[in-house]
Amino acid sequence: MTMTTGFIWNERYMWHDNGAALGQIPTGGAFQPGLHLENPETKRRLKNLLDAYDVTPQLVSLAHEAAPIATLARFHTQDYIDLVETTSKSGGSVGQATIAGPGSFEVARLAVGGTTAAVAAVTQGHVQNAYALTRPPGHHAERDRGRGFCIFNNIGLAILEAKAQGWVERVAVVDWDVHHGNGTQQAFYNDSDVLTVSIHQEMLYPVNLGKLEEIGDAAGEGFNINVPLPAGCGGGAYLKAIDDVVIPALNAFQPDLIIIACGFDAAYFDPLSHMLLVANHYRTMTEKMMHAADTLCGGKIIANHEGGYSDFYVPLCGMAVIETLSGIDSGVKDPYAGTEFVANQDLKPHQFEAIKAAVDGPLAALFARQGSS
Ligand SMILES: [Zn+2]
Repeated sequence: MTMTTGFIWNERYMWHDNGAALGQIPTGGAFQPGLHLENPETKRRLKNLLDAYDVTPQLVSLAHEAAPIATLARFHTQDYIDLVETTSKSGGSVGQATIAGPGSFEVARLAVGGTTAAVAAVTQGHVQNAYALTRPPGHHAERDRGRGFCIFNNIGLAILEAKAQGWVERVAVVDWDVHHGNGTQQAFYNDSDVLTVSIHQEMLYPVNLGKLEEIGDAAGEGFNINVPLPAGCGGGAYLKAIDDVVIPALNAFQPDLIIIACGFDAAYFDPLSHMLLVANHYRTMTEKMMHAADTLCGGKIIANHEGGYSDFYVPLCGMAVIETLSGIDSGVKDPYAGTEFVANQDLKPHQFEAIKAAVDGPLAALFARQGSS
């Protein structure tokens, strides 16, 4: 069945420039300058694939504009907003592993505006669900600094704006980017209206965050769930984590809207992680999330693009998610889908133990809060 799926895209997202680098580190004259890992290619190639297979015209293009400063200030400090504006005039660092080049302030505000437009369209019923192909990513951005290539926290700000506008009350964020969603966790750590769940490779980035015991604080206690997984997880572990932790958490929380922080860097070909997923795993995970959304909140679900650094493979993963959200069959076949390329996908005992620890720890804490409220 074809769904009405909103789509956020803006060529100007591609004009944010992290400059020349050795991987993710500025070369500083010590090494031959190369393309920074967070460059436009992964996302532009996804858009090109959607165009080439006639998917884009079947999606509902959603108008959006740069978020006003007042929206940014719902989470970020004024000092940090000013720093990004000033730094992006000439180019430089605005935090940890985060660069604002010329024009980045405007592009980053446009990304926040894009995510906010997707939330507005889905919560107000203009479309059934949406995919926001925004850039720069947002889930690492903290209150007072950029982190991990993220300037402003796109999803967090969109939720805060939506709550302030009265579009939505209870939102669940499921972050399957391979890195921990530390910025989103920080934004809602004391908040019982926003459930934040992050599935990530343990001790990857940020190194000392994303632990099981970070369950939220004060009114938000129990409403933050981390599922740190050991390196080397494939589809078996990821689908088990969705089934045993994410879906029960969503059922307990009863959101009005589900937002996926949709990174594709847990894919086998990603240069910044050590997981094994292929595009069809993202398809199945999306199906499970949509089923939960159908049951809990009238199918209201948004996937917002985060990380993912394989320029040839991110587009295939993104296509799988967008096909699932929209019901469109593009005809694109993943040539790497066969296990002859990516074996070792079954759930291992030590991976099961990591998932069970999340069930016994943070999920139990959520159940305790929901039962007592
Ligand atoms: Zn990531």
